Amino acid sequence: IAVINTVDPRIGAAIAAELTDQRESLKLIASENYASPAVLLAMGNWFSDKYAEGTIGRRFYAGCRNVDTVESVAAEHARELFGAPHAYVQPHSGIDANLVAYWAILADRVEAPALAKAQARQVNDLSPADWAQLRQDLGNQRMLGMSLDAGGHLTHGFRPNISGKMFDQRSYGTDPETGLIDYDALRETAREFKPLIIVGGYSAYPRKVNFRVMREIADEVGATFLVDMAHFAGLVAGKVFTGDFDPVPHAHIVTTTTHKSLRGPRGGMVLCQPELADQVDRGCPMVLGGPLPHIMAAKAIALAEARRPDFAGYAQQVVANSQALAEALMRRGATLVTGGTDNHLSVIDVNSYGLTGRQAEQALLDSGIVTNRNSVPRDPNGAWYTSGVRIGTPALTSRGLGTAEMDEIAELIHTVLSHTRADSGSKAKYTLDGSLAERVAKQATELLAGFP
Ligand code: PLP
Repeated sequence: IAVINTVDPRIGAAIAAELTDQRESLKLIASENYASPAVLLAMGNWFSDKYAEGTIGRRFYAGCRNVDTVESVAAEHARELFGAPHAYVQPHSGIDANLVAYWAILADRVEAPALAKAQARQVNDLSPADWAQLRQDLGNQRMLGMSLDAGGHLTHGFRPNISGKMFDQRSYGTDPETGLIDYDALRETAREFKPLIIVGGYSAYPRKVNFRVMREIADEVGATFLVDMAHFAGLVAGKVFTGDFDPVPHAHIVTTTTHKSLRGPRGGMVLCQPELADQVDRGCPMVLGGPLPHIMAAKAIALAEARRPDFAGYAQQVVANSQALAEALMRRGATLVTGGTDNHLSVIDVNSYGLTGRQAEQALLDSGIVTNRNSVPRDPNGAWYTSGVRIGTPALTSRGLGTAEMDEIAELIHTVLSHTRADSGSKAKYTLDGSLAERVAKQATELLAGFP
């Protein structure tokens, strides 16, 4: 930081302040973690300066032998860790990984002339009519993904994301009674809609997903089955999700981020069956620019860490903590979507506290508890204010917190939410006694001080 300060001390100060924030507040955002020092160091070095467009051994730039080493080692760790025939470790993020995968599937499934026509379009400045034309060029292909309020992700065919402009989308949801994925309804929708791609995976669904059944449905309707395991890749790596719940043997193609439960650098990755490998490797230049060799180095380190036996213990503890936190909240009267969790996250329905997700998120933040608001199924407050708060345990588990600490954290969350009053007529404003927020924040910091 001293070196950075010689250039612009505001950045040095922001970095130092971020360290303090991450040390002293309860990081319960389900998609965040603490990467190891080895991962951080692999990311912060001279590889950042290197161009290496292309793939291993076939680059459009000279002098890539060290990048080849890094990319090969990262891909090897990914294949071994997940038991996947092919791994592509270049995507810069989860969004990119999904886009690489979608174009690979289109290239695999759409007739060459139609594909070439669509690819020739300059997609940067397309008008809505141009997008409609592009979809038509591609034969109006269809995507079936999980609805946003049930926990799906924008990249699974929703309009604000490019996937929603490339495909006609329909979504599957959850059973209103149980909150669980209704596979029979999903099968019915798939039979009727006949999608090119069925997307499994989620950002905010607190349960296991049966990928074997989803593959059966995909096979029945002739769809390519893609699983986006961005959230739970660490639980797959740690062998908590096996058999029907491990997407890798069931999906044609699997995408992921590397920075969530997998605990690597910010980035993405694609795993696939051999028949899609060539198309996937064309991610650069179809979707991606030059790869980020420093990030691929950090991915290699994170994947190697995840292959160690202690990572399985970590993954098991993430779920044990998540379940302990969910149970402790429910004992205190909180309502949880689906009535619990069997993964790393829960969604608290804060309607039961008379709050919107936005009010609850902010009141918790005032009290040193960092979460994020999230829709609940059939959310009455829409996607901006929402009625839920998503909480997850990957980060706190990395610090060594266990089930006993989860009980204390549930007490802090419940105290804040039950003392927060929504201001009448507002979905954003609320009243919370400042001294109570301060006391909770102090308790959180003291708890975390035991896990430096
Ligand atoms: N896919 C899922 C399921 C996600 O939850 C996310 C991020 O929240 C993404 C993709 C996108 O990842 P990124 O933010 O790295 O683009």
